[in-house]
Amino acid sequence: MHDLRSASPRRLGDLRHLFSYLRPYRPSWVLAIVTSSISMAFGAMFPWLVGQLLDAAIPSLKIVEVQPWQRDLNTVALVLIGTLLVQAVLMFISSLLFHSVGERAVVDMRQELYGHLIGQPLRFFGEHRVGELTSRLSSDLAQIQDTLTFTVGQALRQAMLLVAGLVMIAATSVKLSLVMLSSVPVVMLLGVLFGRRIRKLSSTAQDRLATTSTVVEETLQGIANVKAFGNEPYENSRYARGLHDYLAIVLQTARSRAALIAFIIFAIFGAIVLVLWYGSHLLREGQLTHGNLTRFVFYTMFIGGAVSSVPEIISNVQRTLGATQRVRELLAEPAELLVANTERSPAAPLPRLRGQVAFNDVHFRYPSRPDLPVLRGLNLEAQPGEKIALVGPSGAGKSTLVSLLLRFYEPDAGRLLLDGQDASVLDLRTVRANMAIVPQEVLLFGGSIRENIAYGRPGASDEQIRAAAEQAHCTEFIARFPEGYETLVGERGVKLSGGQRQRLAIARALLRDPAILILDEATSSLDSESEALIQSALDVLLAGRTALLIAHRLATVRRCDRIYVIEHGTVTESGSHAELIAKPAGTYRRLAEMQFAG
Ligand code: ATP
Repeated sequence: MHDLRSASPRRLGDLRHLFSYLRPYRPSWVLAIVTSSISMAFGAMFPWLVGQLLDAAIPSLKIVEVQPWQRDLNTVALVLIGTLLVQAVLMFISSLLFHSVGERAVVDMRQELYGHLIGQPLRFFGEHRVGELTSRLSSDLAQIQDTLTFTVGQALRQAMLLVAGLVMIAATSVKLSLVMLSSVPVVMLLGVLFGRRIRKLSSTAQDRLATTSTVVEETLQGIANVKAFGNEPYENSRYARGLHDYLAIVLQTARSRAALIAFIIFAIFGAIVLVLWYGSHLLREGQLTHGNLTRFVFYTMFIGGAVSSVPEIISNVQRTLGATQRVRELLAEPAELLVANTERSPAAPLPRLRGQVAFNDVHFRYPSRPDLPVLRGLNLEAQPGEKIALVGPSGAGKSTLVSLLLRFYEPDAGRLLLDGQDASVLDLRTVRANMAIVPQEVLLFGGSIRENIAYGRPGASDEQIRAAAEQAHCTEFIARFPEGYETLVGERGVKLSGGQRQRLAIARALLRDPAILILDEATSSLDSESEALIQSALDVLLAGRTALLIAHRLATVRRCDRIYVIEHGTVTESGSHAELIAKPAGTYRRLAEMQFAG
């Protein structure tokens, strides 16, 4: 009971939300409804005209008044064809309009949802699985699309046919109508019962199919692992089990569905037999003409068709409301606040920072793991233009520190200062526009080399891109590809070596021209030639900027102004290489001896 009461306002909200996407296309939407209605009205005239045709053929049996034109077989047939033509043309227009409005509305919806999704703070992605999010973007919206483009129009048409059919049979013969309609409750009841069972079964089937998809996803993602362990047969049997469960339930669904279809056909024809049987009696008694009986049979088919489509339409609408609800929940998640200072217009150029960074007694835990303190009273500082190195054992919190600097997360306590101001009062876009990151694992997007460099600053000119590539020593490997800057990289393009990818990332960062540079040094060793090229590219990139380096190599650390040793979320040692190496029992000294291994 409680469920019912709380469900309806929510459902109403879902419905309103759904229809809000149609608002921009109201004229087309209204026109679609109007043309569809007129087309149905013409369609509903069809049985009536067929009746006329028959009564014109056997005029002696006429009961109703017949106009002179209705006596002429050819005229009636022509009117019949004309009606069908008008109905077909209007149907074409309305169907086109329903589709175009529905598709446009869903495109808007997809765009909004996607924009909202990528505007979510990083915390959000720790709480949701990517698979679940992509499924909302694809399957939920596909469901909504299906309803907006097809089901709404179908429901409207069936409703009109039902009303028209009922009016027409009542006008033809009240007695016969009552006999025919007496069969409807039984049919409806069985239809609803079957429909409910099918709905339940197909939702279980969907769940089971989703489980098998997870197996495929996991296996393909870790295919190298599967092969290394020789676990193909194991994965195969895991998939087979999933499919077996799925098959059991779809076969049950298929049985119910087949029974429902058979029942509907039986019910419709049964109703027709009933009508013919009782109608023939009326015909014999002279209470009904041939034409009237034929007309009645046609309208009975209309009504049967409309009634039998009700469960399908209802279940479709329910699924769509469920999908809309999930979309609404997602849209209700607050997005990252990009502009903290609302007085600034988003179009104004972003101010440039000098590049002073300070962490003052920063404490932090990840929202997804509130029991684990990751940073515990961390202090560090970099003056504009200074290069500082972060070293420390794995899991100490170095990457977390970088995430806080990029303001992916906010500190639980303590402050992050940029140019002496609390970072949390700065516009988020300003903060990020002044930073660039060269990660350990460079992610290349499926696109050309030029696009991948330009990602650092969308809208950069070709000269700027070439200059950055030149400085980052990318040109000699780019020149070796026949298509040069237009060479496709990423999943379906050429594969670049680790060193080449690094240089591309450096070119990207150079183009961005940040005040603060974050460099997560690659751990894998490169050959000395690549190493030298990267080092020289980095020298250009580092010049005149503040840099935080998560360092894995002694050579890099030595060149830094200051080194911070981070352990268990706090700074345990800091100073220059010479100072730290001089400490006999220091962590730095130990790590340096192991070359920061691990
Ligand atoms: P490494 O050198 O191995 O990259 P690190 O010093 O950069 O290590 P962090 O990645 O900052 O260490 O991790 C610090 C701690 O925070 C670890 O215990 C890790 O398990 C935890 N952690 C990191 N990222 C998350 C996250 N997104 N959600 C929850 N916990 C996290």
